[in-house]
Amino acid sequence: MTRSINCKNEKCNQYLNIEEIMRYGHPEGMGFKVACEACKQVNIFSTSELETHIEKTQDKIYQPSHYNQGIETISFIEQTIKDYPPEQAYLVGNTLKYLSRAPHKGSKEEDLKKARNYLNRAIEGEWFKEVKK
Ligand SMILES: [Zn+2]
Repeated sequence: MTRSINCKNEKCNQYLNIEEIMRYGHPEGMGFKVACEACKQVNIFSTSELETHIEKTQDKIYQPSHYNQGIETISFIEQTIKDYPPEQAYLVGNTLKYLSRAPHKGSKEEDLKKARNYLNRAIEGEWFKEVKK
């Protein structure tokens, strides 16, 4: 079962997968920025907009557990980054995003390294440099 939301371009009929928006969308304020594959328009969806859409279309009987997890993770990230300045909030948000998805996507080490990279940039202002032994 896929939950999707319409592209915001009125002339475009493309549906965008909400889970993918939340997992891979570029964090933008309290939401996500994604380019539509069909019309290339950049859409910005607020988290509350996505949550409302999911609730509206929710199948009360069958509810995949990873959706709950997704929403809770998003809310957690939102709560956490609230007190950071915007330029740091984005980096900390991405750190948390990669940490939360690392065990689920079959690319754990890569995701953990991305998290380290974002965290390093939040702390040092630059990407992590791996020291060759
Ligand atoms: Zn579109």
